Order: sequence, then C-alpha cells, then structure tokens
Amino acid sequence: MDGIANHFQAVRHRIQTAERAAGRQSGSVQLIAVGKFQPAEALKRAYEEGQRAFGENYVQEALDKMQALQNLSGLEWHLIGPLQSNKTRVVAEHFDWVHTLDREKIARRLSEQRPGHLPPLNVLLQVNSSNEETKSGVGPAAVSSLAHAIDALPGLRLRGLMSIPAPADRYETQRAAFAPVRALFMQLQAEGLKIDTLSMGMTQDLEAAIAEGATQVRIGTALFGPRAASG
Ligand SMILES: *Cc1c(COP(=O)(O)O)cnc(C)c1O
Repeated sequence: MDGIANHFQAVRHRIQTAERAAGRQSGSVQLIAVGKFQPAEALKRAYEEGQRAFGENYVQEALDKMQALQNLSGLEWHLIGPLQSNKTRVVAEHFDWVHTLDREKIARRLSEQRPGHLPPLNVLLQVNSSNEETKSGVGPAAVSSLAHAIDALPGLRLRGLMSIPAPADRYETQRAAFAPVRALFMQLQAEGLKIDTLSMGMTQDLEAAIAEGATQVRIGTALFGPRAASG
C-alpha cells in the first residue's frame, strides 16, 4: 500500500468511529476528497481506492482535472470554493454540486445556465455562523429567506447547508461552532424544505462535525498530505 491507500483507510476509520460514537448509522457520512493543489494523478490514486466524490476550490483547476480524468466513470465533482458570477456558466455545465452558494443572483444564474440534459445542480447554502466579516457565507438571519428563494429555482436542487467555522483546537469549541448550523438546518426542515445534506468538517474537526450531524465531510490534508501552497 502506498501513502494514499493508508490515508484513505485511516480517514474512513475516523469517520466510522465518529459515526458510532454519535449513535449514527454506519455509512451516513459521505467522504469528499478535497484535491486543491494536488495533481490529477493523486485523484486517480484516490479513485483506485474507491473514492468517487471530489471537492475543488478553484474552477479552472477543477476543469483541468476533469479533462485529465475524463476516462474515469462515476466521478462526482463538488465546488467548495467561492464562486464569482463570471464563472457560473462553466460551473453549471460541469459540476454536480456547489457548496458555497450565498447570493440569490448567483443562484439564478446557475439555475438558468444549468443544461437541460443534466439533472438539477445540487446546491448548499454556505452559512457564516461566526459572522466574521472577511468570510463568505450568509449570516444566520438571512438563511431562511434565501433558502426558500433558491428552493424555487428549477435548475437547482437545494440539498442543505455548508459551513467552515474558524479553526479551533478543542473538540468542545469545534462542536459549539457546528451546533448552530445544525439548528438552522433543522429549522429549515421544520419549515418544509426537503433538505438532507450538512457539509461540515475538515481534517482537523471531522469528529466534532459528525457529532453535530454532518452528512458530508470535506477532507484534504489527511488524505493527500500537506499542500504545496497554502489555501
Ligand atoms: C481546503 C478545504 C478543505 C479541506 O481541508 P483539510 O484541512 O485539508 O482537510 C475543506 N473545505 C474547504 C472549503 C477547503 O477549502
């Protein structure tokens, strides 16, 4: 086994252990392998380990990898980085999921530009629960109205919420940052939205995220090792 095989085994074990600890069903958390700054070859190795869902931060980098890996079948591409309005068309044409929706204008463009032969684009609203002004994401108070507006768009399928809390070392601090996102998620369900996905948790805090109900974790470093550049 090479490093990537060992890393996948270790991360899957962490996820299973966290699912069990939270009393959740085994397999209820989907692993999204985050490939930013990693070569297409690393993603191909991940594919050989059975990985199908990949998260990318940068649209052009993702398109290059889609091109390089076009012979592999069953890949699922998740945009997890910020989305500018001049990139919506290529994203609507090439991705399966967008995690970082935070503006109605972008949502409308994606919906209009989603090709008719593809299923609706799966989208998550990015919640800025820590209210840091520098970070992207919708403030908690604005989430409900934006979620209902997006849910009405025919080219999109609203699946749930995503969040990237400020990094924290302590488990309890990490959980405290995820808890309000889960509460918002449950509130939207109570309002009648048919949503099923909570994208939260990275290498440092996946256990806390799973304890707070994450259904997708986005993992880079623990799978592929440190990135060459920081991002
Ligand atoms: C880079 C990144 C990840 C993965 O982070 P790691 O700490 O390397 O696991 C997850 N989500 C987003 C939005 C990222 O930018």
